[in-house]
Amino acid sequence: MKRRQFLLAASAANTTQPPRGFAGSNWMAQQQLESKLRAATSPVQVERHMARMSAEPHHAGSPASRAVAEYARSQFSKFGFQARIEECEAFLPYPEERLVEIVSPVPYKLRLAEPNFAEDPDSRDKNQLPTYNAYSAAGDITAEAVYVNYGVPADYEVLRSKGISVKGKIALARYGVSWRGVKPKVAAENGAAGCLIFSDPKEDGFGKGAVYPDGPYRCDQGVQRGSVMDMSIHVGDPLSPGWVSEKGSRRLTMAEAKVLMPIPVMPISYGDAKPLLEQLGGDEVPNSWRGGLPVPYRFGPGPAKVRMKLSFDNATRPVHNVIATLRGSQWPDQWVLYGNHHDAWINGAQDPVSGAAALLETARVLGLAAKQGWKPKRTIVLALWDAEEFGLIGSTEWVEKHRAELDQKAVVYFNSDSNSRGQLSAGASPSLSLFLEEAARDTGVPRAKEWSVYPLGSGSDYVPFVHHTGIAAANIGFSGDVGTGGIYHSIFDSFAWYKRFGDDGFRHGKSLADYMATVISRMAEAAVPPFEFTRLAEAVSKYWRELKQDSASVDAAIARLTKAAAAFETRYANAQPMAVAKVERALQIPGGLPGREWYRSVYSAPGQYTGYGAKTLPGVREALELKKPAEAEAQIEVLAAALNRCAAAIEAL
Ligand SMILES: [Zn+2]
Repeated sequence: MKRRQFLLAASAANTTQPPRGFAGSNWMAQQQLESKLRAATSPVQVERHMARMSAEPHHAGSPASRAVAEYARSQFSKFGFQARIEECEAFLPYPEERLVEIVSPVPYKLRLAEPNFAEDPDSRDKNQLPTYNAYSAAGDITAEAVYVNYGVPADYEVLRSKGISVKGKIALARYGVSWRGVKPKVAAENGAAGCLIFSDPKEDGFGKGAVYPDGPYRCDQGVQRGSVMDMSIHVGDPLSPGWVSEKGSRRLTMAEAKVLMPIPVMPISYGDAKPLLEQLGGDEVPNSWRGGLPVPYRFGPGPAKVRMKLSFDNATRPVHNVIATLRGSQWPDQWVLYGNHHDAWINGAQDPVSGAAALLETARVLGLAAKQGWKPKRTIVLALWDAEEFGLIGSTEWVEKHRAELDQKAVVYFNSDSNSRGQLSAGASPSLSLFLEEAARDTGVPRAKEWSVYPLGSGSDYVPFVHHTGIAAANIGFSGDVGTGGIYHSIFDSFAWYKRFGDDGFRHGKSLADYMATVISRMAEAAVPPFEFTRLAEAVSKYWRELKQDSASVDAAIARLTKAAAAFETRYANAQPMAVAKVERALQIPGGLPGREWYRSVYSAPGQYTGYGAKTLPGVREALELKKPAEAEAQIEVLAAALNRCAAAIEAL
């Protein structure tokens, strides 16, 4: 009892300065609500959800994935939410044939399978999806191998300078630096016939520390599965870009789809990569290309000749999104959204269940407060998405289906995904930056001293909200104190692994629920949603200066935006809530970015050749990087126009 009082006093002391959106008696009531919410979250509940949701392999399209969705729906209902499953369907190919072998000089058939360990009962589960890259091309090819380092464009410059071509060859790339889908894409652009991607021990294996089951890192035959959909073009179902894929709806043919990988690609372990690297000739690679295996890394090509024979079932499968709502009492048509995916490659204790379990715990405490009489002013919409791993499919199809309504009603979208020991990090729209910092200060969750939000690229379900629809979004989680890369997308991402290494006693699961309950309740209760635009103007100005371009029209637009954001501070308290929430919609360009019209934000987008990492002011930045001066000039005018629209939206508040 004494301890509890002490903690409450301490947290009250932290929050004497009201956060944006609250003052006086509103702030008193909000503080009481937050104390109640954060006192109710429990690591035991987070663990309970994780044990249940990670018990079986539950990849998208499988009966086990449906069962996880049903479990979540029933939990939401129990907590007092209106909960339903919204089903759609998508092209979700599973592998049929997977053969990779060195045919000469020394034959070796790659194992393409992960071992099971007595220490981890889940490693023996039935119905594990075999190792593969979703949306690889099928084929039967035999060719010499060439080592291409990380397989990014700069690596091919090095190969060219050495007179080495990958034309007609199999590119052997290591994981790291770029998102995986970039590697086969660049290999194909350079004429390769196939691509193998291996997990080098330097990145996430014994080069980092003890390997599983002795330690958390990737073991000899551990494999990183994953999608190689070209997500820089669009995400969601590959056969229904821009519209929802439901039973009977229009679909592209595979030949028409723009995001399927044109060449066969397979992920392999370092145990399988070693005999291949041993049989590569040619010059030794530069130091920066060398990995952690005890072999001389050489460029090739050959003499190792490799056969890849892959086929897939190319099936369309059901996708189950779980949607739970707590209706707003004052502004039911203003929605505060929070989602996390529920599908995994295998058991997925870390990715995604560590986040999904914290989302359910957030739901439980919000529901508890509602049962005790709290009526959120805005509607809270919680979602557990399916088929994220294949290409953010469940969330994207849902956004595409509800786009018009979301445009009218969505105030904000919060996202979480994997969560583990470490410090708070948040990628976000810049107009949410101050809000997220104040919540971090007031909840006292672990975070770095110099804490700031980073711009959103890709990698989880916020993409369709922020990049396609212009809804301000944030991606939130704890990480950094454990090497989660070692089990990423493998059968060892299990409850046993997570309990030992992922989070000490599920404390960070509780911290995530604490933080999310705080930000959701603040967004639901503030009379005017706590968006703030001077940081938006500052961020745009900073990224523009990085580009070192001369443009009177952009300079004038930034000056106008800066002035509008500052002037708005005196009018904030009386502003119309949805108009404030919709300001960032003005950063959308109707025609989208060049060559990838699905992405519509002038502020940020995933890089076409980096993958998950964000490119800020992407229209201009990528035109400059790809040396397209005419396109850069046109994009500068597009940027200036969007910044002027955004300034006008703030001036009108
Ligand atoms: Zn995930």
